[in-house]
Amino acid sequence: MNQALFIPSNSHFLKTLTNFFLDKHSLDDIKTLKVWCIFPTKRSGLYFKNYLKEKLKLKKIEAGFFPRIYSFEEFIEALYTNLISSPFPQVPSILRVFVFLEVLSKRLNFFSKKEEDNFEKYFNWGIKFLEVFEEFEKEGKIPENLLYPPEGLPELAKKLFEELKTTYLEFSSLIEEKGFSYYSYRLKKVRDVLKEEKVFNNNIFNEINEVWFIGFAALRRVEVEILKYFKEKFKSYFFIFEAYEPIPSIIRDTLKALELDYKWISPDYYEKKEIKDPQIYFYETTDPHLEVKSALEFIPESLKNPDEIVIVVPNPFNLLPLIYTLEGKENPIEVNITLQYPITKIPLNQFLKNLIRAQKEREEKFYPTQVYLKILKHPYFLALEFEGGISFQKIIKEIEDELRKIGYLKITLDEVENLVPKYRDYLEKIHKIFFRNWESIKTPFEFSENLKNILNFFEPLFEKLKDEDSWHSILLRNYIHVLETKIFPIFEEETYLKDKSFSGSFLLEILEYLLKEEKIPFIGDPLKGLQIMGFLETRLLSFKKVIILDVNEGFLPPAPSFNPLLTDEIKIYLGIPIFRNELWVYYFERLIKSAEEVHLFYIFVEKGKTQEFREPSRFIQKLKWELEKEEKKPNEKLIPLYFEILPEKEGIPKTKEIKQSLLDLIKTTEISRYFLETYLRCGVKFYFKYLLKLKEETKIGLRSFDIGNFIHEFFENIFRELEGKEVLMENVYKENEVLEKLENLWLSYKFERKMDALSHFLSKKIAVETIRKYFNYLIDKERAGEIKSTKILGVERSLKLLTECNLFDPSYEEFRNFKVLFSGRTDFLIKRKEGITKYLILDFKSNPDIRPYSGKEKIDKMFSFSLSDKFDNLSLYEVADIFGSDLSGFQPRFYYYLFYQQKEKFITENDKEFVVINAGFITPSDFKNPEKFVFNLSKRGEWAKIYDYFKNRFKNLLEWILNHIIISDKFYLPADDNICKYCEYKAPCKNYRYLLE
Ligand code: SF4
Repeated sequence: MNQALFIPSNSHFLKTLTNFFLDKHSLDDIKTLKVWCIFPTKRSGLYFKNYLKEKLKLKKIEAGFFPRIYSFEEFIEALYTNLISSPFPQVPSILRVFVFLEVLSKRLNFFSKKEEDNFEKYFNWGIKFLEVFEEFEKEGKIPENLLYPPEGLPELAKKLFEELKTTYLEFSSLIEEKGFSYYSYRLKKVRDVLKEEKVFNNNIFNEINEVWFIGFAALRRVEVEILKYFKEKFKSYFFIFEAYEPIPSIIRDTLKALELDYKWISPDYYEKKEIKDPQIYFYETTDPHLEVKSALEFIPESLKNPDEIVIVVPNPFNLLPLIYTLEGKENPIEVNITLQYPITKIPLNQFLKNLIRAQKEREEKFYPTQVYLKILKHPYFLALEFEGGISFQKIIKEIEDELRKIGYLKITLDEVENLVPKYRDYLEKIHKIFFRNWESIKTPFEFSENLKNILNFFEPLFEKLKDEDSWHSILLRNYIHVLETKIFPIFEEETYLKDKSFSGSFLLEILEYLLKEEKIPFIGDPLKGLQIMGFLETRLLSFKKVIILDVNEGFLPPAPSFNPLLTDEIKIYLGIPIFRNELWVYYFERLIKSAEEVHLFYIFVEKGKTQEFREPSRFIQKLKWELEKEEKKPNEKLIPLYFEILPEKEGIPKTKEIKQSLLDLIKTTEISRYFLETYLRCGVKFYFKYLLKLKEETKIGLRSFDIGNFIHEFFENIFRELEGKEVLMENVYKENEVLEKLENLWLSYKFERKMDALSHFLSKKIAVETIRKYFNYLIDKERAGEIKSTKILGVERSLKLLTECNLFDPSYEEFRNFKVLFSGRTDFLIKRKEGITKYLILDFKSNPDIRPYSGKEKIDKMFSFSLSDKFDNLSLYEVADIFGSDLSGFQPRFYYYLFYQQKEKFITENDKEFVVINAGFITPSDFKNPEKFVFNLSKRGEWAKIYDYFKNRFKNLLEWILNHIIISDKFYLPADDNICKYCEYKAPCKNYRYLLE
């Protein structure tokens, strides 16, 4: 058996290899040019060459004869183009899918009528089947027809498996006919041609005196055959492996496949003579930003060598936070990136994805409003300025306000143009390029023209960005390069698509696929500065300090991409080898062993409200376990979430000036229930709304208050004409008229544009029923003698009260009296004669479950409550608690107070006559119990206590809340996070929390 050489990882693999190589070959010798060194990756070859150069420099020599250094892919390309008489160009995989679909259309007669529909349908299956074919090609096999395909697959897949061999052979011959090639096809072709005797006469072999295969592992069968060919044909060759004890199974298997024995290289060649175990540190955190920030603390101000430090990012999406944090450093360091960066997160890509989405979700001329707005609100648009200095940001703001006002879920472009007619010219242009042009595309060429029009539109902006030396600009340049070199040509030049006619939706599907799959290949050249790498790019490289982020399951090892046609079971069935995680274990261990210091960061989120579950990688567990076996304690650190997440912080601090403005605000504002409730609910929200006067973002579509407004308006319409009259509902309720009014009002609210069809149908049905049932409830009560008459005292009746309050004045630092205007507006104020005369202050509520926080216990709590002399968060939460967790008890009590304080205006009975005053809600959609009151008392004595409370005590509570607004040190966050769920200020609030220290 021939011998392979093992170089230990901890000797610095590539430098030890360099020492060994230079012992065999001199860079002064021209014959070195005929030594070919093949590496699994381009990067390792690049580092090797760099180390050779360094050695030359040590000898003060500038130039020399270097070996030919190739990555394996380049090596195969060199062989393919030299050994094959008429080599074909490599084509993108998407074009292979079309070849596959063409085979399907001929063989299986799938595409008899509506060809393009079937193309769309089978496109994704095509992608999956190509992977199966590639697997066979890498194994150098022709698949067999499977008479009994695996169970559980869809019919189409089963049928294809039954005819796998025939389909594959037809696919291969069509590929040849078209003159296409791709990697696994080339691999197989090279293997095939090497079997021919005469091929060794080819010139390329005269170029090679000696060949070195360096650092390979887990070879596929065809690769093994190619390597073995060189082993057999060349007298001089080297197979060098990176290894450590115990020898990894993946290396043993590779040796076995290549029929090689092994020995360790002599320690004389070791670059690092003193072999030590690396120091390993573990860092656990729950927050990706902290992970990045903490990792960067290990980066010095400057770096001399490219093998000093590497930051490994197994999750490529961590690259951007990492480089932006690096950019933000006081002395930014030179950075070199080597990884395949998926383009999905790049802003221009997200913009294009939204354009696709807008077309996919378009119904005739109607676009989804949210997506339409997302497109127009993209930062690229917002940065635009039109002639005359009109900023597009301003135009968008107006459009958005209008769209939110009408709340339609779907909108036509004409409607948008009509909403803001003064900007029609600009909008027409934008609508054409970004929407209308995409509505009826027929040919791929038209499609790529549309894409180009978009780039042209943004050209001036991109030009400006390109001049900037920021990462955003680097990413943008790379992204445009990917579009120009990998995406446009598919639609324009290639024989398959160019002149064909396809449906627009199919072309969008193809574009979507390409925008998802393409990557920016950062190649990290020159070898300088801080190295940031994808995990696989670190193969064979050694660094003094290794920092690995996201050592989490799913990234290290990565979650395998799922192909239902290549499950383990099917692979066994088809005779395709199954690689599990051995290879990843090997790459991980060799990287760790080659370093002196290793910092492993991982995220641990057990059950997150806002984050997904993340657990440390099995590699972390294994390393810790190994340390424990050796009775060594792992160096672990938990990175706490300092100030980043605010709950420990209580809120936004108030300065003396703010406190003064708060007093001024109270003196000059009508103090409504919303004003007070907002403060009780969340001080921060109060700050945004009343102090900063930030507008709440209104939702598109049906808003929670839309139905409420409808109900209010409807009852107002019905009862307004009865104001001041004493009536029986039985006499005034004419069902047909009422329902007709409801129909007209419903139409005017345009609910059909704010809800999906089913919700609209159901909501309307419920509204009709609700109204009918409520009137019938009142009529039944009248017929039963429980209601003798109803006098409508007011509809939408305003209740204002100007009263003196003792408030703290920050400029005098003492309490002083000020006039305060409390204000409310009750929906329905009535005097109802039951057994007793009742004055009822009522509000319509659309939520049938809302209660005015009534019941004896709650009333007792209100009576016995004593106000704190502290103005902190806890005392505020206690006050809010008297009104129920949703504060539903506040409004009726507040209105009760306003009514009671001026009751003489409404109550016509003399003092001696007992009347009941009550407040509550009308919830018409609660059919059983549509009226709910705060106080459900029977004894006069109990009512006397209530009256006394509202006459003398309730004001203290209001005064206390107002003083809390002025005096407390902070605008406090809510006691319960649930309040944030439907908050319209989530966005500013989030930003604010991060700013606070
Ligand atoms: S998101 Fe929560 S904490 Fe922030 S303003 Fe809204 S309710 Fe208050």
